[in-house]
Amino acid sequence: MSQSTHEPSFRESVDMMFNRAVGLMDLKPGLEEKIRVCNATYTVRFGVRLRGEIKTFTGYRSVHSEHMEPVKGGIRYSMGVSQDEVEALAALMTFKCALVEAPFGGSKGGLCVDPREYEEHELELITRRFAYELIKRDMINPAQNVPAPDMGTGEREMAWIADQYKRMHTTDINGAACVTGKPINAGGIHGRTEATGRGVQYALRAFFRDDEGVKKANMKGDLDGKRVIVQGLGNVGYHAAKFLSEEDGAPVVGVIEYNGAIWNDDGIDIEALKQHITETGSPEGFDGGKFIEDGTSLLEAECDILIPAALEGVINLKNAKKIQAKLIIEAANGPVTAGADEILRDKQTVIIPDMYANAGGVTVSYFEWVKNLSHIRFGRMQRRQEESRHQLIVDELERISRDTSINWTLSPDFKDKYLRGAGELELVRSGLDDTMRIAYESMADVWHGRDDVTDLRTAAYLVAIGKVAASYHAKGL
Ligand code: GLU
Repeated sequence: MSQSTHEPSFRESVDMMFNRAVGLMDLKPGLEEKIRVCNATYTVRFGVRLRGEIKTFTGYRSVHSEHMEPVKGGIRYSMGVSQDEVEALAALMTFKCALVEAPFGGSKGGLCVDPREYEEHELELITRRFAYELIKRDMINPAQNVPAPDMGTGEREMAWIADQYKRMHTTDINGAACVTGKPINAGGIHGRTEATGRGVQYALRAFFRDDEGVKKANMKGDLDGKRVIVQGLGNVGYHAAKFLSEEDGAPVVGVIEYNGAIWNDDGIDIEALKQHITETGSPEGFDGGKFIEDGTSLLEAECDILIPAALEGVINLKNAKKIQAKLIIEAANGPVTAGADEILRDKQTVIIPDMYANAGGVTVSYFEWVKNLSHIRFGRMQRRQEESRHQLIVDELERISRDTSINWTLSPDFKDKYLRGAGELELVRSGLDDTMRIAYESMADVWHGRDDVTDLRTAAYLVAIGKVAASYHAKGL
């Protein structure tokens, strides 16, 4: 097959992948165009007085599709942010939400800033001012547009945004639902921070339950023993690497950071490496593996599963042919360009696409939003029920002890262990697991069921676009 030598931009890549899928669908041209285009992008430039001078920042909030409201998607802080990038990311949010049936349209925001250059109090001023600009225009609002963390932002920024919203809408009882990914004590939900990495783990588990899919990747067996390389040890990469190595017996042999990589054939202690990077700012000097200065070369190293969890476009026309992994799971948004996607498809490398692989974040965001709107702690009812069941066990044991004159006692940690499954975190994890299983099956049905669909990404687009189209039809459009 002839392959292109032009490397498309991220935006072009998303459009090309979308076009590939709609080419296999029977959509009316008008509807196809309606689903493709980004509805609106708001650009804002604002000044903040920092270190004695006024600094001007440029930010965006893009709304891709409002077939469901609120629209949903993170806000990223990075010098690479541009209108094109947020629009491509907003489109991905539309399809991601549709695929996992989170009842939202797609949106994304970004601010051109390098957060590492600023002190915490400066970042607070910048964030509050950006939030003010967006709130003023209803681009942050519990019923219309609900941001979340993304690259360069986290729960701290979300807490500032929620607080800013509440200052500007003092009587809105649903104010906490204006943003998700908040800290627990500011209306967040247990399990949101780990959610995207946890979702990657559940996605891989779902894949390895699919014998036909595993065969298509020229692999065998389950996750146990599969060798993993992770690019990016930020929130998503760190959690995915930690869970896979600690819970699924899949050793992480390589970790790639922007300033170097670590290799260890026996598997890297992720917790120790993370601590080292947090303390020193670099993987260099870590004693649990070999330091490699040219980190990106490790993308091409021998392994079973490659997890790009950092930037878009890292697997491209330059390195796609050299990738040795049989399975790539896109924990980041858009890490494989459309050109590389074609090369990898020809090589029969299976790619678990971003819109599914990293949907854990928005899935748990949905739980958080519902929790905020319902004003009740998730799992509260279940925990009460389990507490009374635990009491029945204790009472019954006392009765048996009296009847038998033998002192039957429970181990001191029994109560903790018994109730562990009854709280919010367990509920969130099981809800996420269900979501990832169901979404995987919907993609796999198309992947295995249609001769004209040869990859999971096209299958994911077909399912997602089908759902968005159905929602437009239902509205009579
Ligand atoms: N930023 C994440 C994403 O790209 C999460 C979005 C959300 O929770 O709204 O999916």
